[in-house]
Amino acid sequence: MKNYRSKRVLVTGGAGFLGSHLCERLLGAGHDVLCVDNFYTGAKENIAHLMGDPRFEVMRHDVTFPLYVEVDEIYNLACPASPVHYQNDPVSTTKTSVHGAINLLGLAKRVGARIFQASTSEVYGDPQVHPQKEDYWGHVNPVGIRSCYDEGKRCAETLFFDYRRQCDLSIKVVRIFNTYGPRMHPNDGRVVSNFIMQALLDQPITIYGDGSQTRSFCFVDDLIDGFLAFMDTPHEISGPMNMGNPGEFTILELAELVLELTGSKSQLVNEPLPHDDPTQRCPDITFAKEELGWEPQIKLRQGLEATIEYFEEVVRRG
Ligand code: NAD
Ligand code: UDP
Repeated sequence: MKNYRSKRVLVTGGAGFLGSHLCERLLGAGHDVLCVDNFYTGAKENIAHLMGDPRFEVMRHDVTFPLYVEVDEIYNLACPASPVHYQNDPVSTTKTSVHGAINLLGLAKRVGARIFQASTSEVYGDPQVHPQKEDYWGHVNPVGIRSCYDEGKRCAETLFFDYRRQCDLSIKVVRIFNTYGPRMHPNDGRVVSNFIMQALLDQPITIYGDGSQTRSFCFVDDLIDGFLAFMDTPHEISGPMNMGNPGEFTILELAELVLELTGSKSQLVNEPLPHDDPTQRCPDITFAKEELGWEPQIKLRQGLEATIEYFEEVVRRG
């Protein structure tokens, strides 16, 4: 029998790293899930284990084109997230964020659905305020190599808040800080996947710059807990809300921890720091703590162990 509280939930980017975990959790909670993805960076393998579930449906679709479906809730995660991937076709990245937001907000308005936006800490750019709070407007280069992503996501936020003001749409905007875990793409160039793959293959660990830049790493399960809790908040609460782990590490510290946990013999090598690479990044999560009682539970060491286990399997499969 159908759970009376079960909803029809659309997850765009559902075959990606975060999206696949979200689909899994929504199905586990008894909802019908429609996963929409163009498989640009996502993969069918990420959702293969969900395919047999009659409440799970997959649609190949590019969110830059309109979508006509009937749903109760929308999570908009469609967008390449790794700098290597989003810089590969920057025009398409901006289109995905902006046209994607327009199409999905239009859909939400038509069917009266609540809509969630996966925004990013990148809206703060290379921040001059530390740690970053939601009321900080950011320090973003509008014409650099990260702009397609940063400005695309900023414009998407604008659209979400204008739909909120103009149409009273129920929106939930989350600014996600670096998140890692199983099902990250092994070659997506993000620091956690890069370092673990390099360590497991005994290849040099590539430290960009001197490794003194910082990031805060959140394990995927913690983040998805936050998504679900935020989506359940009253209409009045829209965000933007930071979500991430406030534990801050230099990239060098991360490399050393990965070496210790993998027992790898890899050497550290320095490579040039990419343009506009933020020097410091750490979320202030007071708002999420107050509104949701949410804060990450999983320490970096513990999350890395689970992630290393996943990548060991990826390496074994070849
Ligand atoms: P990912 O690349 O693994 O997933 C993105 C998914 O979106 C992929 O399955 C991809 O195929 C799909 N996609 C891309 N363009 C599309 C389009 N035009 N139409 C339909 N599908 C499309 O990345 P992720 O880490 O899972 O990130 C998910 C979301 O969270 C993204 O919006 C990203 O900007 C945001 N985010 C992630 C992080 C993080 O640390 N993982 C940090 C900040 C923000
Ligand atoms: N980085 C690195 N070596 C790598 C990949 C990334 O030193 O092999 C650095 C990168 O320059 C940045 C940080 O790690 O300072 C995080 O990079 P990532 O691409 O994971 O995400 P970002 O937070 O920059 O979007």
